[in-house]
Amino acid sequence: MNKYSKFKILIVEDDEDDYVLLEELLIEAIGDVGAIHWAEDFKSAQAKIATEHFDFYFLDNRLGAELGLELIVEIKQQFATAPPIIMLSGVDDYQTDLDAMEKGADDYIIKSELTSHLLERTFRYSLKSKDLEAKLAKLAHFDTLTGLYNRSLFNELLVKAIQQSERSGQKFALVTLDLDNFKFINDNYGHPAGDQLLTKIARRLKHAIRSSDIVARLGGDEFSLLLKDVKKDSDFVTLVENIMAIFQQPIQIDSKAVSVTTSIGIAIFPTDTQTASELIDHSDRAMYQAKALGRNNYSFYNQQLHQEAIMKHKLELELNFAIDNNQLLLHYQPIISLKTGAIIYYEALLRWPNNENGFRNTEKFIEVAEESNLILKIGDWVFKAACLQLKAWAKQGIKDRHIAINASANQFNSDDFIELVAKYVKETPELAKKLTIELTERKPLVISPKTVNRLMVLSTLGVKFSVDDFGTGHSSISYLRAFPMNSIKIDKSIIQNILTSHEDLALCTAIIALGKALNLDVIAEGVETEEINNLLSSLACPYGQGYLYSKPMPL
Ligand code: C2E
Ligand code: CA
Ligand code: CA
Repeated sequence: MNKYSKFKILIVEDDEDDYVLLEELLIEAIGDVGAIHWAEDFKSAQAKIATEHFDFYFLDNRLGAELGLELIVEIKQQFATAPPIIMLSGVDDYQTDLDAMEKGADDYIIKSELTSHLLERTFRYSLKSKDLEAKLAKLAHFDTLTGLYNRSLFNELLVKAIQQSERSGQKFALVTLDLDNFKFINDNYGHPAGDQLLTKIARRLKHAIRSSDIVARLGGDEFSLLLKDVKKDSDFVTLVENIMAIFQQPIQIDSKAVSVTTSIGIAIFPTDTQTASELIDHSDRAMYQAKALGRNNYSFYNQQLHQEAIMKHKLELELNFAIDNNQLLLHYQPIISLKTGAIIYYEALLRWPNNENGFRNTEKFIEVAEESNLILKIGDWVFKAACLQLKAWAKQGIKDRHIAINASANQFNSDDFIELVAKYVKETPELAKKLTIELTERKPLVISPKTVNRLMVLSTLGVKFSVDDFGTGHSSISYLRAFPMNSIKIDKSIIQNILTSHEDLALCTAIIALGKALNLDVIAEGVETEEINNLLSSLACPYGQGYLYSKPMPL
């Protein structure tokens, strides 16, 4: 056994005698060299190179009509740093030897001069120089103290991130992080302590980030990060707060626990700039701004984005808390028959009480929730609350009361939501017949065949579907064809203009006709006045909803 005994070596040689000789000499020279594989022509060599990795390659240059040196490129394609490649050549092949070296071969041996001694020297020498090459590559790219990426590699990765972002359209953040009191620690505890501190912080940083993120030490106590794969601006806040959090625990240096704080600056590509150098500059500026704010702080270069991202982040946290602590409520608004005035069903509308005896703006917080997975949590809650209400009515003997709930596009595409509904409906089949789901189309809905299938299942179980805000959204008409819809609701922005706008009146009339033709119930939303009510009646609009009949209110 020696250190080469696990080696896998490939010899590409079309002359069997030459191959046998080389193999013998190799064993004589090195001893146990592990597995020696033989490729006897260009084609089989290509196949082996493409599918297997070897630790060492010997290539005969003359392989029938082909040249062995053409294989060098293919080997290099398989590896970041390719293993040693030795060319075997005839006596007078000086020029091809040069060509081979140029292509990246590590050395060449003239076959007629081959001895075990020469072979041994060549073998060991090329391995050593490869090792050195790898070490140098590492030095050039990594910070020796912390093992993080260094400035030069970070700059390359930044350029890559920009190219990626330009292709994908996804934003990313360049984060500059500077310790607030590093100089103090260095001066008072000494340099080795400073080094320990940096190493420990590097380790914590690595743990705090996701696999798609990048962290580097640019020098001194300055670190930089790239936060990629981010769906919305408020996510940047979450990620940066995760990074701030690693400084909450003091850091143990020798026997002392040292508290460290940091100032962080954030610049977003491409929101803040389109170039790498400006992005670095903006992120630095933001970092100084954070220091000016009193350290232990972070700051976005873009103040407006900063305010919005923080506001949304805060809202997400509060909303999440409100759901978990059962602070949300449902209000109900009746939908009535314009002919008889009878209540057909109630629409459940979400309410979130604020501290001043009022409610937060539903449309606004729903919009924020829709940007994150919170909307799914909300959807589950609303659905369950509506079902509880239906069950309570059933218990009280109130039979003919229906509820409509609102669902966002994300919910329709979520396996969990559809399964939740299916499960409930199967357990309590009479619930299904009293439930309508209104599809709000603020975001365009991607209708996959899978989604359609599942909705069909719910539909056969008796659940009804309605297109909300009809006439304003993205692709309502296509929903009518893809889904088993039961009703459409004409958006209130149209209804409220039918007395004054010729176009809106025409649109309203057309939608009523469309409903009749497709056998769908039509509901006019936002009816606030008698005049509008009368006009709708004269257009034979079957149903209406609005402040004129009733505002949404608690049960
Ligand atoms: P929407 O589904 O179009 O609901 C109708 C909205 O119009 C409600 O606003 C209602 O209060 C309001 N409204 C009703 N009658 C009138 C009227 O005569 N005049 C005027 N000006 N407004 C009227 P709300 O409750 O603030 O809800 C806003 C939106 O938030 C809803 O629009 C719906 O898209 C969404 N939403 C509400 N609850 C939920 C929910 O549980 N889940 C989801 N995903 N979205 C919800
Ligand atoms: Ca609705
Ligand atoms: Ca609506």
